Amino acid sequence: MTRTIEVVHTKNKKEKPNADNIVFGKYFSDHMFVMDYSEEKGWYGPRIVPYAPITLDPSAMIFHYGQTVFEGLKAYRTADDRILLFRPEKNFRRLNQSSERISIPTIDEELALTALKKLIDIEKEWVPSLEGNSLYIRPFIIATEPNINLTPSKTYQFMMILSPVGSYYKEGIKPVGIHVEDQYTRAVKGGTGTAKTAGNYAAAYKAQERATKEGYSQVLWLDGMEKKFIEEVGSMNVFFKINGEVITPELSGSILEGVTRISIIELLKDWGVPVTERKISLEELYQAYDQGELEEAFGTGTAAVISPVGELNWGHRNMVINNKEIGELSKKLYDTLTGIQTGKMADPYDWTLEVQ
Ligand SMILES: *Cc1c(COP(=O)(O)O)cnc(C)c1O
Repeated sequence: MTRTIEVVHTKNKKEKPNADNIVFGKYFSDHMFVMDYSEEKGWYGPRIVPYAPITLDPSAMIFHYGQTVFEGLKAYRTADDRILLFRPEKNFRRLNQSSERISIPTIDEELALTALKKLIDIEKEWVPSLEGNSLYIRPFIIATEPNINLTPSKTYQFMMILSPVGSYYKEGIKPVGIHVEDQYTRAVKGGTGTAKTAGNYAAAYKAQERATKEGYSQVLWLDGMEKKFIEEVGSMNVFFKINGEVITPELSGSILEGVTRISIIELLKDWGVPVTERKISLEELYQAYDQGELEEAFGTGTAAVISPVGELNWGHRNMVINNKEIGELSKKLYDTLTGIQTGKMADPYDWTLEVQ
């Protein structure tokens, strides 16, 4: 279905942040995409308008029961001034999967991608050119019906906003310390862990606060049932290289299916590196460590791409992985993925999409 996307240009362009020190998440571009939903019309009124605050009724359902979903992806500027998106169709697919879980009506994925390309084209100047910088894209849907009844909303708004972000690694890639969380739970099978929905993240703050206080940068989440199997690190998927084999927790029903995760799995398979998706317990990991077989560990996600784990702390059991240095395979994965994303390397998998 072709639909026209109305465009209203801003009259007041904002100043852009200083390229060498952009704080994550604080700057937003001049325009945003908006589309509405009602039961009678379905999704309607796709438009690009000046970025501005929105007005909602205090009883709007989003404020009370958290009926909302979001996505996160990036646009990169290449050395020859092209703008690339990385597997964006996967993000809109996942947005719809999240929506299904939260009883939000799905969107037309193709329309969303067309709208995103158009929005970025209008906001071209906001895609930073400094190496390591990128334009972070935040699509999200909120329940807008003014009604505090405990039922799914009858109206929604889908929006996309853009935020220039700095390099995740300003002083080179530095492995991080991780604290094993054995009290709080991020998600359980049958819950909402597979959806990118607000409540999951608010519920994780408490554990993150404690980890930060103890000097760790992220938490390692265990399965909610037995607190035995490894699930994710912070809001990243997690990989371990044990005795030459790469292992990542299987999609158990409480793990978020990362676009970076599947890309890493596909790269490893293509390289002939053994990679397995299966349950892995913390006990098994510590045993591998004790036997000197744990070679590398890293988290994966859009923000950092690869975040090597240098230290894992579980009460009195502490492990130091690969001498707190980035592993050889982690480095190769990082260089390859970022190389493809930024157009520095060829893209034999057809993962990138040029905005033009
Ligand atoms: C978004 C997210 C990830 C990573 O997904 P990417 O698509 O690779 O960015 C992993 N875990 C959680 C909980 C997330 O919210």
